[in-house]
Amino acid sequence: MNIIFLGGTETVTGSKYLVETANTKILVDCGLYQGYKWLRERNREPLPLDIHQLDAIVLTHAHLDHSGFIPLLYKQGYRGPIYTHAATSALCSILLPDSGHIQEEDAKFYQKHQLSKHQKPEPLYDKKTAEQSLTLFENIEFDQTFTVGDLEITFQYAGHILGAASVIIEAEGKRVGFSGDVGRPNDIFMRPPKALPELDLLMLESTYGNRRHDQHDPYQQLADVVNKTVSHGGTLLIPSFAVGRAQTLQYMLAILMQEQRIPKLSVFIDSPMAINVGDIYCHHHELHRLTDEQCHLMCNVATYTRSVDDSKALSEVTMPHIIIAGSGMATGGRILHHLKRLLGDHRTTVLFSGYLAGGTRGAKMLKGEGSVKIHGQWIPINATIEVMHGLSGHADYVDIENWLHQSSLKKGTKIQLVHGDPDALEAMKDHLNQTTNFTVEIASYKKILRL
Ligand SMILES: [Zn+2]
Repeated sequence: MNIIFLGGTETVTGSKYLVETANTKILVDCGLYQGYKWLRERNREPLPLDIHQLDAIVLTHAHLDHSGFIPLLYKQGYRGPIYTHAATSALCSILLPDSGHIQEEDAKFYQKHQLSKHQKPEPLYDKKTAEQSLTLFENIEFDQTFTVGDLEITFQYAGHILGAASVIIEAEGKRVGFSGDVGRPNDIFMRPPKALPELDLLMLESTYGNRRHDQHDPYQQLADVVNKTVSHGGTLLIPSFAVGRAQTLQYMLAILMQEQRIPKLSVFIDSPMAINVGDIYCHHHELHRLTDEQCHLMCNVATYTRSVDDSKALSEVTMPHIIIAGSGMATGGRILHHLKRLLGDHRTTVLFSGYLAGGTRGAKMLKGEGSVKIHGQWIPINATIEVMHGLSGHADYVDIENWLHQSSLKKGTKIQLVHGDPDALEAMKDHLNQTTNFTVEIASYKKILRL
C-alpha cells in the first residue's frame, strides 16, 4: 500500500491523500487550499494522477479544507462514489454549493472592479457544478466496514463537527489510520473522539501542536466581550464558520441570556446556510450532547437573514447588537461587508471565534495591523479585535497525546504528522517524542510512503 500526500502537509488546508494498492486507488479527503496565495494557487494545479482511475473518494468530514475540492474533480470528469457519513453528506449539500456561489461572486466582483490580473477571472467551479457533485455521495455509518477494491474501510466517531470521522483502512496485511480532524474530550457540543485501534501507520492532525487551549471558561469570556461591547454601544461582529462554530455560539448566547449574564440582545445570523445547518444538528441529535429542548433553544435565539437585502438592512438596526456571519477567518462571505462598514468605528468589537490560518485577513487583523484590504480597498481598523480560544473544535497537543494513550497503538507505530502549520508540526513532533514511544515524522508535500 502506498500513501501519497497531496495536501494538508505543512499547512492546515488542502487535505488530500492518495491511497493505492496494486488494484485500487482512492483519495482520502479532497480539500481546498485556503490562506496564503501561493497555497491557493495549488488549487489550480492538476493533481498528479489520472482521476478516471480513482475508485472512490473517502471523506472524513464536511469542512471545505477537506471537501471543497470535490466539485473541481467533478468538473474534471470524476464520477465515482464519495463515501462519507450521512451528516457529512447533509452538511456538504449546504457547504459545497455555497463555496461555488462564493467563488462565482468573487470572480464577478474582481472582474467588475478590474482587480484581477487575469482578463476574465474564472471561478474554480460554480454553484451548479457543486450541486451536481452531490449526486456522487453515498452514506456510510460509523463502525460499519465497507469495501472498495482491495481496501476495507471503516469510519469511526471523531467528535470535531457533526459527522466527523477518523478513517481506518486495511489492505495487503497492513492497517493505516487517518485521524481526520480530532475533536476535544470536553467539547460543548460533540462527544469525545473514539480511541484508535492498533495501526501500522497513522496520519495525525496537528492543528494545535504548539498550543494548549485556553483553560478559562468560554462562557465567561463571551459574556465579558458582549457586555463590554454593550457598554460601548457598538456592534459585536463574530466571523464564524457556518458549520459547528455558529451553532455553538448561538447555544452559548442563548444560555447566557437565559442565565441573565448578558442582556437580551438581537442576534443576527447573517448566513443563508446556518439556519439549515441548525436543522441538521437537531436532526442528528444522536451524534452530539444536546437534548431536543437545548437544540430548540439554540435555534430560537437568533434572527436569520437569508437575502442580500436583509443583510444590507442590518446597517439600519439600532446598536448594540450581535452579527454572526461567515467566513470564520474573514477570507470571504458576508462578514466582509460588515467589516468594511464597521471596522473604522471604535465602538465595534470583532470577536474571532476560532483558528486563524497564517496569511488570512483574520490573522492580519489579530496581529494588530492598522488597516486591512477588503475587495481591493484599504479599511482602517479602529475596532477592538478579540479572539476566543476556548471554542476550538480541535484537540490540542495534550488532548491528542491522551487520545493516543487510550488507543491500541503499539510501541514504534509510525505516525506522519499532517494538518498543521510548520511550528505546530515541529512542536507536536517534539511533544510526542517525549511522551510516547511511537516513531513520529512530519509529512511533506507529494511524499510517497510505501508500506
Ligand atoms: Zn475540520
